[in-house]
Amino acid sequence: MIPKIANSSNIRTILKGRIPGQVIIQYTNSCNATCPQCSMRKTEPLNRVKLEETEVRKIIESAARQKIQALSFTGGEPFLYQEQLISLIQYASDLGIPYIRTGTNGFMFANTESNNYVDKIERFAERLSRTNLRNFWISIDSSDPKTHEEMRGLKGVISGIEKALPIFHQYGIYPAANLGINRYTGGKDKIPYAMADKDEFYDAFKTAFEGFYEFVINLGFTMVNACYPMSFGGDGSSSMKAVYGAVSDSDLITFTKEEKIQLFRALMDTIPTYRSKIRIFTPLVSLYSLIQQFGGKDNFSYPCRGGIDFFYINAKDGNTYPCGYRGDETMGKFIDLDVAALRSKPFCKACDWECFRDPSELIGYVIHSLHNPIRYLTNGSKDSLYRHLWKEDIKYYELCEYFDGRKAMKTT
Ligand code: SF4
Ligand code: SF4
Repeated sequence: MIPKIANSSNIRTILKGRIPGQVIIQYTNSCNATCPQCSMRKTEPLNRVKLEETEVRKIIESAARQKIQALSFTGGEPFLYQEQLISLIQYASDLGIPYIRTGTNGFMFANTESNNYVDKIERFAERLSRTNLRNFWISIDSSDPKTHEEMRGLKGVISGIEKALPIFHQYGIYPAANLGINRYTGGKDKIPYAMADKDEFYDAFKTAFEGFYEFVINLGFTMVNACYPMSFGGDGSSSMKAVYGAVSDSDLITFTKEEKIQLFRALMDTIPTYRSKIRIFTPLVSLYSLIQQFGGKDNFSYPCRGGIDFFYINAKDGNTYPCGYRGDETMGKFIDLDVAALRSKPFCKACDWECFRDPSELIGYVIHSLHNPIRYLTNGSKDSLYRHLWKEDIKYYELCEYFDGRKAMKTT
């Protein structure tokens, strides 16, 4: 989530060296899918829990009082508790939180052959449309329907999504396809681990991303996001103790540093071709910075605002963490947290969680430039490609109305 920068309240926040706040609430760790790249899949012997609704309401109240801009409900599969979830989204809407987001693995879109399928989806879309939910994501892992459905263990969801999207659009909801980048992104042929030839690896992912964007456009999506791989292995993040189970040591999402460079390059080179065809959240400048980081330039990217402006609330203990991955650093209950009083400086670059890294990069540059205007004006703070990409990203974000999922895509 990247909020509109040029909004008076956000400008005030940024002038203080802070970034508009974001809270991710893991409502439950229960799930009905089998994704091999996730430690919350239904086959894992996990203690399944859900936050109490009253507790979440208090978190929402505290977030609204502290002017948190973005609130996301995640899982597990949060729509296993559809009634409660929609009521919480409504509550956050009533309290005026501007960027409310949630998503699903799409299980409710299966069984298109049932007689009441259209009625069921219409009712669902209509209920969501009564709230201020801004973004609704549906996870898609592969441009090959069969591969996606086998990975998720959810048969028939792709044709269901295709059928459901026009219904959502009628109700003024424009869902985003949410790709968790993996070795099956491009279809049924797995991109092998540690390919010797880096150009071959780059080409394989470039083709995969192109195929994926074509696929989701043809399904009827008008918005798409890419989650960078969250493996705890080859990317050097294995020392972290994740509390958020959306990680795994599966080779599907484990990439060497060199592979990550090529993967981010491939995505960065693919996005410009598709930006006029589908709204793509992924900022080019963030990919560029990650490429520099993995290439050894440790100080190039801006550090993550996890634990300073962004927070993760864990379903298992209801505690707040700097993010889903720094599980050794509990910050206690969110309702006891005074976000404005937090004084720590951003430092962390331990993972590539795009929810936190992308806005940290885009807005980090603004903060840095405001606090170092001479370096900015003399072009000394970043290289020219960085500055060019940053400007292009902001122009694109403006054009896409900061990815307002309640508006149709502009065609010009
Ligand atoms: S990625 Fe999502 S849908 Fe898949 S197993 Fe994990 S929580 Fe469930
Ligand atoms: S980079 Fe951000 S999301 Fe990743 S571990 Fe550090 S604080 Fe957490």
